[in-house]
Amino acid sequence: MTRRTQTSLMPLLLVVGLVLMPVLSGCASMGATDTSSGKARNVILLIGDGMGPSHFGAAWFYSNRVLGKDLHMVEAMKAGNTAYLVNDTADAIVTESAAAAGQIATGQRMTARAISMAADGTTPVKTVMETSKSRGLATGLVTTSGITDATPAAFAAHVAHRSDEASVAAQELELGVDVLMGGRKQFFLPEISAGKRKDGRNLLDEARAAGYTVVEDVGELNAAQGVKILGLFNMGNMVYEIDRAKTMEPSLAEMTAKTLAVLSRNPKGFFVMIEGGRIDHAAHRNDAPGTIRDTLAFDEAVGVALEFARKNPHTLLIVTADHETAGMALIGHSKDSKEYIGIDLAAIRKAKASFEVIAGELGTSPTPQKIQQVVAAYLDIQITDGEARMVADDTIRKLDPANYSYPYLHSLAFVLRPYLRVGWGSQTHTASPLYAFGVGPGSERIKGLLHNTQLFEIMKTAME
Ligand SMILES: [Zn+2]
Repeated sequence: MTRRTQTSLMPLLLVVGLVLMPVLSGCASMGATDTSSGKARNVILLIGDGMGPSHFGAAWFYSNRVLGKDLHMVEAMKAGNTAYLVNDTADAIVTESAAAAGQIATGQRMTARAISMAADGTTPVKTVMETSKSRGLATGLVTTSGITDATPAAFAAHVAHRSDEASVAAQELELGVDVLMGGRKQFFLPEISAGKRKDGRNLLDEARAAGYTVVEDVGELNAAQGVKILGLFNMGNMVYEIDRAKTMEPSLAEMTAKTLAVLSRNPKGFFVMIEGGRIDHAAHRNDAPGTIRDTLAFDEAVGVALEFARKNPHTLLIVTADHETAGMALIGHSKDSKEYIGIDLAAIRKAKASFEVIAGELGTSPTPQKIQQVVAAYLDIQITDGEARMVADDTIRKLDPANYSYPYLHSLAFVLRPYLRVGWGSQTHTASPLYAFGVGPGSERIKGLLHNTQLFEIMKTAME
């Protein structure tokens, strides 16, 4: 080829290159989750409330050894990046959910109980969801706890104390969050309708007038057509996963699938926070089977989100926790094992109900005989007379009531230690480091040791 022909071909090659480039780069990102440093159109943040390393580990053992499959969370770890996460706040080493979620939502250190307020307790701080909303993205909040509980609240509301859930409900609708799903319908209804609102407002009616489809069970959820959905499935929290089969409540995975289908209709993209809210509640009650079942339900939701991210590569998916709950430990010995053996998955599998149901059966001052009957009926375990007396005495809770708030349940968990081979350090949160992992554009910054305020920066940078 002469120098002359080379020169005359140059413009043609340039044109062909420019035409092919977008096609080729599009092909390269199809079918696989994009972990390069591109921009994220969608952000899916999944928070396992209270899900520390042992909660994750117990669910991992159960999934692999009882259910015969690996966790979706492990798929996400393998496809993306993982970091340790610490979560201390403006005023404490051990956080609760409001400060933890506020720090993830805003990037600023916060104080306990305030919802997305600066450390002064009175100045609202703009959240990643509010920024997404102002840019025209769709937004969503999903939880198995109350939709007005601290974790979802911290993304869409600003109140001085997390107990002001009536204000949180109103603010979530005022912001116009497109999809809201969870429990605690009581904060949307006036007292005359068995709700907890003292201002007489019926927020379900107000939501319908504002264009929301309001749904109250799994059938209505599946049938819902609108682009704005308010799903409230229980007057209180949604039930524990271990108790759900007898109800009409959707699973977290079902809520996640519907939410992603609705939000992804917005061509500008979306931001959604999806919470496994009752992992924390089961752990507070030192309920090992309940904790594992809710962690597995959270994992199913992660699976739905991961599948969406695979099909929509401009999606940043982050999975993390807000704090560890109750110092869960997978301990070594049964009553007669001489060598380490670890969590008894077969015994865990036999549990028929949550410790919330068991506590309801025990009542306010159970006899040792009653305790033996209830434990046998719900857990298929025969505890001894001495063990039953120890539960009835509930001594540890009386010695340290600030750290053991649920009557009988820590004592019950303690006598169950050699049967289930799971121990609990408290009934409160702990400062245990957590995991954060993710896939998609921006996830390459999830590595090493992160503070939870840095998750905000990672999401913000990926979306800009
Ligand atoms: Zn908690």
